[in-house]
Amino acid sequence: MIQQINHIGIAVRSLEERIPFYRDVLGLKYLGTEEVEEQKVRVAMFRVGEVKIELLEPTEESSPIAGFLEKRGEGIHHIAFQSDNLENQLSDLKNKGIRLIDEYPREGAHGTKIAFIHPKSSGKVLTELCQSGRKEE
Ligand code: ZN
Repeated sequence: MIQQINHIGIAVRSLEERIPFYRDVLGLKYLGTEEVEEQKVRVAMFRVGEVKIELLEPTEESSPIAGFLEKRGEGIHHIAFQSDNLENQLSDLKNKGIRLIDEYPREGAHGTKIAFIHPKSSGKVLTELCQSGRKEE
């Protein structure tokens, strides 16, 4: 079951340049930065109420975020909904004929499990589903 919006992913060219806007100008709680090697990104997380803002900076030219920046520039990249059971959620979506980028959960930032729905099935909005791997900060 989808429980809430977990985070909004924003593609940026430089975390260093963008972190001050969210942390110092908007005053959101900065949760830290980590590298997610599998996705070739560095991720900075902020908390605002129940929702997080995820800034994504590519670490390599072959990163999907580098491709996004080249095509569309900086901006909102995806919306992530939180599910209480990602595997069931994915098989349910498959049964409903929804195209998935990830048929099975993979590792995301901060110990979460994530999967993406194909934009063709979601009106071009890249949609992530995630399930917390541990208690939320
Ligand atoms: Zn995300």
